[in-house]
Formats: sequence, structure tokens, C-alpha cells
Amino acid sequence: MRLPELRAQVLDANRQIAARGLALHTFGNASGIFRPADGGEAMVAIKPSGVAYDALTAADLVLTRLDGSIVEGSLRPSSDLDTHLDLYRAFPQIGGIVHTHSEFATVWAQSGKPIPCLGTTHADYFHGSVPVTGYLTETAVSRGYVLETGRLITNHFAEHKLDPIATPGVLVVGHAPFAWGRTPAEAVEHADLLEFIARLAWRTTLLGLAGKPLPGYIAKHHHQRKHGPNATYGQRKPEHR
Ligand SMILES: [Zn+2]
Repeated sequence: MRLPELRAQVLDANRQIAARGLALHTFGNASGIFRPADGGEAMVAIKPSGVAYDALTAADLVLTRLDGSIVEGSLRPSSDLDTHLDLYRAFPQIGGIVHTHSEFATVWAQSGKPIPCLGTTHADYFHGSVPVTGYLTETAVSRGYVLETGRLITNHFAEHKLDPIATPGVLVVGHAPFAWGRTPAEAVEHADLLEFIARLAWRTTLLGLAGKPLPGYIAKHHHQRKHGPNATYGQRKPEHR
């Protein structure tokens, strides 16, 4: 992949946030990373701060290094840049990140509750519950709110031994979801699915079925069917989808 391709993919992921109704106004942002196969310097493309999705162009995207230094771009990067960078540093498997304040996922984030796996729709995409982080401490907020939000997520995954590919998203308590994937397109797909799963789980919970998680053997079967080494879902493809 080359940088123009990275820009095109990240522009499309940002447009998809708006097209799929995952963000009001300029809320939310998508980024992507190009990690050269030869071990050269990785490059991140991210939405600029406060630019409307329908006005966004590929040239508006800001290119940065993994340390946050800007390589190209005249606009200020998304204010969430440092969270994205921390996730890219900790999760080398991922290639795209999407942050939204989509309604139902944000409701769960605000409730401080992980989204339990109540059905196969969830199990197809998330192995186990969608996790929720703890709150940032006052010290962490004063140290650097955005970077510390990233650390909150990456520390939670390390502490609970979660695989970011099997669990492609998280709820930041009192805030909103972050989702990711191998590519920016997959990240936006997961952000959309996370919102759908959150909506299903909220409604299921209203019916009083919250105490009835999907049996683990069914959840595992569904996740493996889509993501395991012998996946049978969809058409055979040379690469993961
Ligand atoms: Zn946010």
C-alpha cells in the first residue's frame, strides 16, 4: 500500500461514519496506518479536527508518525489522535481505528457495563463481552487525557489478556466506543456492528433476558465459523475479511 491509497481508505472510512449514521455533526473520527513491510517508518492518516464529513477531502487528512509528529497536513489532527496512536503502538495487528459516539454503544459506555454476548450476531464478531474500561484517575487526566484514554484501553486489554482481533472494540466508560480492524474499512464495519450489537443487547435486556448469555459453546462455534482456521462463512477468499 502507498500513502495515496491510505488517504483514500481513511477518507472512505470517515465518510462511512456519517453515511451509516454513527455520528452527529463532526463527532467521531477514523484513522488508518501504513506499516511498510520492510520495517520502514509507519505512517498514520487521520481526520482533521472539527471538519464536517461531507466537506472532507483526502488532502485534508493529516499524516503523522507513530510518535505524533506531523508529516503532512495544514489542519490540526483529530483531538483524539493520541488515543489512536497508543492503540497502533500496542496492537501491531490492527490497521484502522474508528471512534464514534453512536447512540446505543454510548448508552452502554455511559452505564459502565460490558455488553454481554446474548446471541450469535454478537458472537460472530466479538469473542466474549464487549469490554468496558474503568475511569481515568484525576492524575491521569491531568497528565494527558487523550493519551491516557489510549493507555486505559491498551492496559485493559493487556490485563485481561484480550486479543484485539477477536475483540475488535471497547467501550470507554462515561465516554463512547472505539472500534478497530485490520483495515480502516474493517474498523468502520466493526464500529457499525458494535452499534447494532449494543442496540440488540439493550432491547434484549429490556425484555429481562440479561441473565441469559448465549451458551459458551454456541458463542465459540459462531466465532470460529467466521474467524477460525477452518472458517466456513462466506466465499473462500485468499485473505481474511
Ligand atoms: Zn469521543
